[in-house]
Amino acid sequence: MSAPSLSARPGNPERTGDPEGAGQSERAAGVAVLAVDVGSSRIDAEILDERLACLARASTTTPSAGTTVTSPSSSASTGGDPTADAVVGLCRRLAGSAPPGVPVRRLGLAAAAAVDTRAVAAALAVPVVVTDEATAAGLAEWRHGAGRGSDDVLVVLLDAEIAAAVIADGALVRGRSGQAGRLGHLGVRREGPVCACGLRGCLDVLASTRAIVDAYNARSLTPVARATELRARLGADPVANEVWRGAAAALAEALLTACALLAPARVVLAGELAATGEAWLEPVRAGLAAASPCVSVPPVVAAELGPRAGVLGAAMAALEAA
Ligand SMILES: [Zn+2]
Repeated sequence: MSAPSLSARPGNPERTGDPEGAGQSERAAGVAVLAVDVGSSRIDAEILDERLACLARASTTTPSAGTTVTSPSSSASTGGDPTADAVVGLCRRLAGSAPPGVPVRRLGLAAAAAVDTRAVAAALAVPVVVTDEATAAGLAEWRHGAGRGSDDVLVVLLDAEIAAAVIADGALVRGRSGQAGRLGHLGVRREGPVCACGLRGCLDVLASTRAIVDAYNARSLTPVARATELRARLGADPVANEVWRGAAAALAEALLTACALLAPARVVLAGELAATGEAWLEPVRAGLAAASPCVSVPPVVAAELGPRAGVLGAAMAALEAA
């Protein structure tokens, strides 16, 4: 691939070589990466240098938020996947505003849902390194955020779905086909609501932001649009109290299982609920107090990097793939 369609400076001779053959010499020369985090409502993109300093950034709205996008195998042509088109447009806009002289030859993509990455790679003429959103956030928090300094960390990203990055013995555990850490489908209440996977009582239908909103709105005359809106109603609204505490208790039960299996030294909670601080952390910790004496429960802390963790993790994965 040599088409210089993604160029910080049109015609830059540094960008006409073979990116796949560049390897370490390319990194030594100073190479930036594009990193894109495709969230359910917003797409964030940055160009970063090898030290993860931001050289340029841009954002856009995720098209058709909340609806299904095409799978990576469904189409290799541009135009078939509106999310892929949005990523391509955002990256081209970003490249135009980036400082010249630093070649951008890889794109790290973190996504919560399927994106036609082959179409993105073809349109931008760069190799794309795909990482799921929880893994990307986990990598960033482990190396540069609330998990730094520890070799055994569980980073749980609680969003419309719940997933975790597992770091054990100083390495990211990906599992077969990258499926490690699918905490959202751990069975917590066998009599609970039906999950999208077909089973009942998965953590996703008990403690995800989507589940919290649904559970609250089903019982309240004053509906909310986001789970964090319940925070302001705690104490004065019994339904908010019950839904909030119930979700935290379900998460704690799943964490107990994870702690029994993995014995992490630290649990890092990421996502908008964790950003509310002790209001969310305290009931989760209270649930963990029910642990068997044989299970070691580690400190539970909030993530430190905020929404930028996805972009940072995507960039790290792209740099490490060089
Ligand atoms: Zn499930």
